[in-house]
Amino acid sequence: MHPLIHDWNKTDAPRPTTVLLDDETLRDGLQSPSVRCPTIDEKLRILHLIDRLGIETADLGLPGAGPHVVRDVERLAREIADQRLRVEANCAARTVIADIRPIAEISQRVGIAIECCTFIGSSPLRQYAEGWTLEQLLKLTEQAIGFAVAEGLSVMYVTEDTTRADPDTLRALYSTAIRAGAKRVCIADTVGHATPYGAAAVVRFIASVIEDCGGGVGIDWHGHRDRDLAVVNTLAALEAGATRLHGAAIGIGERVGNTPMELLLVNLVLMGAIERDLSALCEYCETVSAATGVPIPPNYPVVGRDAFRTAADRRRANVGEVERGVLARATRSRCDRRARRPDLLESQDLIRRPDRRRDSCPHQVLRD
Ligand SMILES: [Zn+2]
Repeated sequence: MHPLIHDWNKTDAPRPTTVLLDDETLRDGLQSPSVRCPTIDEKLRILHLIDRLGIETADLGLPGAGPHVVRDVERLAREIADQRLRVEANCAARTVIADIRPIAEISQRVGIAIECCTFIGSSPLRQYAEGWTLEQLLKLTEQAIGFAVAEGLSVMYVTEDTTRADPDTLRALYSTAIRAGAKRVCIADTVGHATPYGAAAVVRFIASVIEDCGGGVGIDWHGHRDRDLAVVNTLAALEAGATRLHGAAIGIGERVGNTPMELLLVNLVLMGAIERDLSALCEYCETVSAATGVPIPPNYPVVGRDAFRTAADRRRANVGEVERGVLARATRSRCDRRARRPDLLESQDLIRRPDRRRDSCPHQVLRD
């Protein structure tokens, strides 16, 4: 931390021991009503940037949606295998055998493990809207997960609209999924209903269900931005026991979007929850923006054009430069010699040189 700053955010709370990230840009992100679907070459670039950011898993798509998705998912999975990327693959599926089979087939053809993320509606509202009964959902769960496990797939069981589902229904669904062989479960705040307190409460409840089932099952948190609480909900879920957190670049996704992955990454690094080289962060956001046609607003935090800029006065501008330096140092960003401004130094130096232009990515400003 900069010597001029006292950090009131520091607490004695224990750091989470496991923090994994799952990138939903290429699946949920593309379900935004306003995005243009990227070409396969653009998807490959995005996949490489996900890998450079050290994100553990990426959702490659929902092969059950048709042959065009199967083709793209297979190409992306092959890229992971051929280029020996560190990022691991997963795919979405409805909790039906017809959606799981193409995932098993792609996994076998490409020769890499693909985690199968089967989703199912869990709230009474959703059950009413779709005409489902709990008995039907339990039967589907048992059959579909049993099939996936028999095919050698690792399964994450996703309950849609979990944050509006009653505890008895959740207990029944999760217990059935775990008995059938699910290795992870995912709490989905599908319509962005949760508050941080609600997020923590539902994670703790699901953790108790897992304990009752014998333990050994990881919890994912999948959040949406409808109340603009996605990042803070995700952090609350982490603190309550979730071990893998979902997000999408620049927060794209259904309706107003998913938890913004880049803001989640920056906050996790600043909190000391993870260590990560974020020097690819701006390229990740700009590439997704260009590939999907979703602009980054000037006032978007961290990667927006106006992040760390001010029109107020010069003294205030200097403070902005300190903040930029703190962020760059905390995220251990490296100065890319090909960057637009390779000459910028760390914050103290910037204070002495306040007349510098401030139009580049904050993650490209710190030189070792
Ligand atoms: Zn979602």
